[in-house]
Amino acid sequence: MRLLVQPKVEQRFWDKVDKLESGCWQWKGAKTKYGIGRFKYRGKLRSAHRFAYEIFVEHISDDVWIIRKSFCPTPGCCNPDHLMMRRSHKSQ
Ligand SMILES: [Zn+2]
Repeated sequence: MRLLVQPKVEQRFWDKVDKLESGCWQWKGAKTKYGIGRFKYRGKLRSAHRFAYEIFVEHISDDVWIIRKSFCPTPGCCNPDHLMMRRSHKSQ
């Protein structure tokens, strides 16, 4: 099930996204030094791409990694179509 958020939260997300011709959703808000977008939700800083995955695809637990597919050229890309889930070794 997807994470349900208020429309104003989703709007705040979109305000920080640039849609590129490549299909990538480039994050223009705050980022870590590795280029991962940061998004504050319920007082907690989250990775923007994880948040995107949660509101557009499905809720994920903390032991799941969300990584970019190999064709995606944009660090920090938040397009769920460019992302995939990978479980960490710990949970296997
Ligand atoms: Zn992308």
